[in-house]
Parts: sequence; C-alpha cells; structure tokens
Amino acid sequence: MPIDATQPYDDDNVFARILRGELPSRKVYEDEWALAFHDINPQAPIHLLVIPKGRYVSWDDFAAKASDAEIAGFVRAVGHVAREAGLPAPGYRLLANVGGHGHQEVPHLHVHVFGGRQFHAMLV
Ligand code: IMP
Repeated sequence: MPIDATQPYDDDNVFARILRGELPSRKVYEDEWALAFHDINPQAPIHLLVIPKGRYVSWDDFAAKASDAEIAGFVRAVGHVAREAGLPAPGYRLLANVGGHGHQEVPHLHVHVFGGRQFHAMLV
C-alpha cells in the first residue's frame, strides 16, 4: 500500500530494520551517509536501492530537514553506486517515489537505480 509521505518516521519500517542489521540485504555499498543494496523484486537486470542513514520518510522530508552534508553525502553515494555498477556509459535511470500519488510503499527515503537495459521515454 502506498504511504502518506507526511507521516511521522516509523522506526520499524523494513529499511530501518535493514540499516540496523535486523534484516538481511544484498549490500553493494555503504558509507557514513548511505547504504545501497539489491531490490528484492528487481524490475531491471540491475535494480539497486540507495537509502540515507538518517530517519527520513521521503525525498520531501529529506530535502526539507537533512543537513547539507547529509544531502551531499547521499547524492554522491548514489553516483558512486551507479559508477560501481558500470552504469554511466550505457546510461541508467534514477527514481524516487514520493507518497500516495508517487506509489511509495516503504516509508524510508530510497532512490531506485535501474540499469542493464534500454528504458522507454517515461514511467507513468
Ligand atoms: P517504493 O514503491 O518506491 O516504495 O519501492 C519499494 C521497493 O522496496 C520495492 O521495489 C520493493 O521490491 C523493495 N523492497 C521491499 N522490501 C525489501 C527488502 O527487504 N529488501 C530489498 N528490497 C525491498
């Protein structure tokens, strides 16, 4: 079910539990600001998720409340993950779903990194 992006942060959400090591993930990258792992239900040959370490429900929440250092660290981590996966040359797609209309299901900000095939003009 899509979430309400204005809801308070839920410390029991699945990505919070992955961050705390309570649930397993297929980790591909971690630094001070971010964790990246394989999506459990991949929609492309490469489908990774990058999440910030801070407690942010959505992109909107992150943009409003995160420090400049957190934002810079997270954005650089997304770039690093894409480069490490070999994606910049053929190209790839980034996606952050936000709230109900965006069909966001997990209430911890995540950026999807899709690659390994040709994508079409628009996701709707
Ligand atoms: P959203 O619709 O943008 O919130 O996407 C949530 C994504 O999280 C979906 O692509 C799910 O397949 C993925 N997901 C849910 N639970 C897990 C998990 O435990 N590990 C990895 N990916 C997950």
